[in-house]
Amino acid sequence: MQLTDLNWPAVQALNKDTPVVFPVAALEQHGEHMPLFTDSMLLGEIVRRVAERMKDRVLFAPLMWLGSSDHHLDFPGTLSSPPRMYLDLLSGLAENFIQHGFRRLVFINGHGGNEVPGRQAIFEVRQRHRRRSDLLLLFATYWHLGGKPQERDRALSQKQMGHACEWETSMMLWIAPHLVGGLARLRPVEFGNPFEPAARGWITKDRTGPGHIGDPSLATAEKGEMLFRVFGDDVTALLERVLRWDGKSWDG
Ligand SMILES: [Zn+2]
Repeated sequence: MQLTDLNWPAVQALNKDTPVVFPVAALEQHGEHMPLFTDSMLLGEIVRRVAERMKDRVLFAPLMWLGSSDHHLDFPGTLSSPPRMYLDLLSGLAENFIQHGFRRLVFINGHGGNEVPGRQAIFEVRQRHRRRSDLLLLFATYWHLGGKPQERDRALSQKQMGHACEWETSMMLWIAPHLVGGLARLRPVEFGNPFEPAARGWITKDRTGPGHIGDPSLATAEKGEMLFRVFGDDVTALLERVLRWDGKSWDG
């Protein structure tokens, strides 16, 4: 069920154990071959598929397209919320729905740069409501939910999500091929090893000239459809766990 379609008495009348999903994505450069709105379009398609399956059991807020994308600002067109502002934005959305009486809040994320502020946001909200024992606050990035697409389809070359890569380009070829162009002239950009397992501060230009990381030339629409199925199943499974939660336990 979509928050945008309801009136306020309908929201008031909902069971407050209904999970509330906030899809969060971005508008940022996606290489020379894909549109700036890629993350929002891909997450939008995953959420559309999941919402169809969950029907009235889950409430979906509209997708927040502005993300934390400062690392891409050297590429024209990128729009970014400063990271601390983004932290407050996500905390504020959660606080709004806690005030409306809801207890199970789930951010479903489609952009890597949102992960650190997103995790911090739910951590801070939990500290503020420390006397409560009935809150479930989750932040989940769709490609980190356990699905292993490369085991489902051996034709996939990449083992992990990159940026404007084989995986993302394949998904875009499935939903909007007219927005993808010039794959044949693109060269792979390796993931490399930036002093792992340490975390290195980076801007996108440290890693790639054209803007992609991975190998978009290997993308096909068929791989994209398979990826949507894997990620849609993963998000659905997470929401089923949220629905099954007993309302108080640490385990889920
Ligand atoms: Zn992306």
